[in-house]
Amino acid sequence: MREQLIACGGEIHFEKKLTDLQVMNGQIESIITADGTKFKADAYILATGHSARDIFQLLHQKNISIEAKPFALGVRIEHPQQIIDAAQYHCSIRDSDLPPAAYSLVEQINGRGVFSFCMCPGGIIAPAATDPGELVVNGWSPSKRNNPYANSGMVVQVSENDALNYFKQLGKPIDSSPLLLMQFQQAIEQKAFNAGGGKFVAPAVRMADFCNNKFSASLPSCSYLPGIVAQDIRNVLPSFVYKSLQGGFESFGKKMRGYFTNEAVVVATESRTSSPVRIPRSADTLTHPQLSNLYPCGEGAGYAGGIVSAAMDGQKIAQLIALL
Ligand SMILES: Cc1cc2nc3c(=O)[nH]c(=O)nc-3n(C[C@H](O)[C@H](O)[C@H](O)COP(=O)(O)OP(=O)(O)OC[C@H]3O[C@@H](n4cnc5c(N)ncnc54)[C@H](O)[C@@H]3O)c2cc1C
Repeated sequence: MREQLIACGGEIHFEKKLTDLQVMNGQIESIITADGTKFKADAYILATGHSARDIFQLLHQKNISIEAKPFALGVRIEHPQQIIDAAQYHCSIRDSDLPPAAYSLVEQINGRGVFSFCMCPGGIIAPAATDPGELVVNGWSPSKRNNPYANSGMVVQVSENDALNYFKQLGKPIDSSPLLLMQFQQAIEQKAFNAGGGKFVAPAVRMADFCNNKFSASLPSCSYLPGIVAQDIRNVLPSFVYKSLQGGFESFGKKMRGYFTNEAVVVATESRTSSPVRIPRSADTLTHPQLSNLYPCGEGAGYAGGIVSAAMDGQKIAQLIALL
């Protein structure tokens, strides 16, 4: 892909971090990188992903409009793969010709969506934080899907009102702003980091204990390499999140035999399901409403969720720019 870009006259600049934008007459005039280099172009595609909080802050400081975007936050749940295989294939041992089983679960709990996200059969729970003092977990499966665990994000819808109420209940009321949901996300990630005692150890609890508001005296083995520590993760998650998750797990246990079990472990926190910020753009020109040569793109701008949709969004913008 890189060779193709270079063959078409493109340049690739690694280790260049965007740190500033210069705006003139309703356009981006140039961009500056951390080493002070200035780049000028006819069009600028902003595709820095959903974790580039410095970029959201930069846009907000420069009065380039951005919007708070509802997202979802929760935990990662890990079962022995054999339990998921038994539930899905209705047999105690999976036939060797069958792949490790996956699942997809969704439920409304008190009018709020609770759903599985990025389920990883035969997978691994991985650390995915991007800043010091924060803990984020995500999941992936090796191509052979041969780990003995099945993990999945299990997340709850979060709105701006939820975040406002959360900060109010903490005794730290804040005004609504486009960065509100990002600040909420960050606050939970910091709580998870502290609850784990630092060093990216994740706070965890067995599934049935979590639903019964009990502390787990012991934890099962878990694929998360930095390690897990038994904690009351109700102290990490806002009450509307953990109560929705409790209702969700109990309901999923009725849909999938064996799913609701103390052999499964709940690991906090899964918080980067999608961007908590949207960078607006025109549906026709794909440009920002204030800047006629800025193209917000991909997951961070709020136009994709996952590898393929982010790539397709990039392709759509590149094709449009090529025709200018
Ligand atoms: C562990 C894990 C597993 C995943 N598994 C899957 C999966 O199985 N399937 C799936 O569809 N999705 C999966 N995802 C999600 C997927 O990775 C994202 O949806 C996708 O990468 C979003 O693409 P993007 O191009 O919008 O942003 P990104 O891939 O996040 O790319 C943004 C880029 O911008 C760079 N950047 C940020 N700030 C700056 C700056 N200031 N200056 C210059 N560059 C900057 C970043 O370094 C990064 O390279 C997974 C994510 C994780 C973390």
